[in-house]
Amino acid sequence: MGSQETTISVGGVAGPVHVKIFPVPDCLFCGIAASEIPATIVSSNPRTIAFRDINPQAPVHILVIPRAHHPNLAELAAADDGLLADLVAHAHEVALAEGIADTGYRVVFNTGRHGGQTVDHVHAHVIGGRQMTWPPG
Ligand code: 5GP
Ligand code: ZN
Repeated sequence: MGSQETTISVGGVAGPVHVKIFPVPDCLFCGIAASEIPATIVSSNPRTIAFRDINPQAPVHILVIPRAHHPNLAELAAADDGLLADLVAHAHEVALAEGIADTGYRVVFNTGRHGGQTVDHVHAHVIGGRQMTWPPG
């Protein structure tokens, strides 16, 4: 296996199916998923990774990404393999682990230019530990 390639196992009736994930060159979050770019990872599993945002906007600010490259929320939803549900479930696990599930938190998918998306590898922001305001800026 090449150093650029990650193999994960997915359970199936006929036994494990190996899915190869190829990082997209110059994608920052593919680099974090491949451990080529350092990040403070708080939890991970075969399909998703959670790590602290480098520029936190609240006491808790964690990004949850799929290991596989999908540019945005629409393309992740269209993948239709349960990965979006896994990502959201991981976001809630992060909130529980950070102790903000009871007080409440915000999950944000900035999408596209008006949405303020700056990294084109889909990510959920999990933000909490203080009172959020509405409307967002
Ligand atoms: P977006 O603006 O696309 O919704 O969110 C991208 C997020 O990635 C921003 O909150 C930004 O602070 C964070 N970010 C950018 N570069 C890095 C990095 O190298 N490491 C980490 N951990 N977060 C980053
Ligand atoms: Zn990527």
